[in-house]
Amino acid sequence: MHRKLSEEDAAFQQEMRDFFTTKVPQDLRDRWAGGGEPAADDIRAAQRLLNEAGLAVTGWPTEYGGRDWSTLQRHIWLTEMQAASVPPPLAFNASMVGPVIATFGSEEQKKRFLPATANLDIWWCQGFSEPDAGSDLASLRTTAVREGDEYVVNGQKTWTTLGQHADWIFALVRTNPDAPKKQMGISFLLIEMDAPGVSLRPIQLIDGGHEVNEVFFENVRVPADQLVGEENKGWDYAKFLLGNERVGVAPVGSIKRWLANAKAHAQQITTAHGTLLDDPLLAARIAELECQVMALELTALRVAGGSRDGKPDPASSILKLRGSQLQQDVLELITDIAGPSGLAWTSIQDELAWASHATATYLNFRKASIYGGSNEVQRQIISTGILGLKG
Ligand SMILES: Cc1cc2nc3c(=O)[nH]c(=O)nc-3n(C[C@H](O)[C@H](O)[C@H](O)COP(=O)(O)OP(=O)(O)OC[C@H]3O[C@@H](n4cnc5c(N)ncnc54)[C@H](O)[C@@H]3O)c2cc1C
Repeated sequence: MHRKLSEEDAAFQQEMRDFFTTKVPQDLRDRWAGGGEPAADDIRAAQRLLNEAGLAVTGWPTEYGGRDWSTLQRHIWLTEMQAASVPPPLAFNASMVGPVIATFGSEEQKKRFLPATANLDIWWCQGFSEPDAGSDLASLRTTAVREGDEYVVNGQKTWTTLGQHADWIFALVRTNPDAPKKQMGISFLLIEMDAPGVSLRPIQLIDGGHEVNEVFFENVRVPADQLVGEENKGWDYAKFLLGNERVGVAPVGSIKRWLANAKAHAQQITTAHGTLLDDPLLAARIAELECQVMALELTALRVAGGSRDGKPDPASSILKLRGSQLQQDVLELITDIAGPSGLAWTSIQDELAWASHATATYLNFRKASIYGGSNEVQRQIISTGILGLKG
């Protein structure tokens, strides 16, 4: 593996850096960097700017706005976006439902949904998980019964991220309860959030926000032309979607930015012997994290550089595992640097505004080791898919 970017890739990196740092307004990026509950308007504004420049749905087929980039270029694009604190394109639109519709949807669905999905004129949420179907997703129980030209949907979804802003939900529903294998009776349905019978209940989180929700379906009538692909083939489309979800899972750019912030914050705090950054124990902790982030970055580049056929590499499970752990370690460091000021929750002094977000952000990111496939499940994939161990 070459550790240095080729001339061409380095130029591409500079082009991305220039765009993200000069074309996306500073105040929007500052709000995103500041943490706290994401502002829907900022997410929309950023995605529209990116979409206009052809930078929002880079992984889609080119005829629908994608770029024919190598996985390394996609990695650079994402890392530079994170480093500049630009809200990334909404994953539900850009990396989840968009590619599914582009690949398996009807021509009419492509026309109806893809441009609006790319531009975030439709905000999608993901209706996969249910109270008894998370890691064991195929156990889902929400039913869709065909009646003429409609499906009648009943059931419940949970952990629906940002569902309070969503216009549509892409849901996995059971269309054949008698299928020989539970994976074979599932379909992929597009449902309007304001259809009669859909209701949403926020889940209050420990950080004070409510970015996740429960969604209930009570006799919701869904036009049959909102079924993606074939009935009972939804599991195949879900696997395709989850494969895409796993690409770009190591948020190297964000982790590096947080680590740089941690150093700046430590320098702000005076001690009897200078600043907190001069404390040998803290300095050693930062140095160790910097080494680990560098190792993660090299692994991410190796995985990105090595999977040119577009198929997710099982090594991406390592990135999910280490990426989420390091993300949590760096946020824990910032919480420790904030000390008692981190418990204030609302800002006491302007210059310590960051400290009032520290604990909430730390608590919020405990989620990173659960969503997108829990870390225990990633360890299973690593043990069988990479190490060849039999369970
Ligand atoms: C913040 C957040 C946002 C989310 N957003 C969405 C969303 O928008 N849409 C959506 O559909 N879902 C969403 N999810 C759901 C997420 O995908 C599930 O939480 C996740 O798949 C785990 O499922 P579970 O919570 O049911 O836990 P369970 O599957 O019940 O797992 C409980 C514990 O058992 C472990 N475990 C389970 N199976 C195994 C195994 N085979 N081997 C070893 N250990 C195992 C797990 O790792 C975990 O520690 C979100 C979750 C979170 C936390």
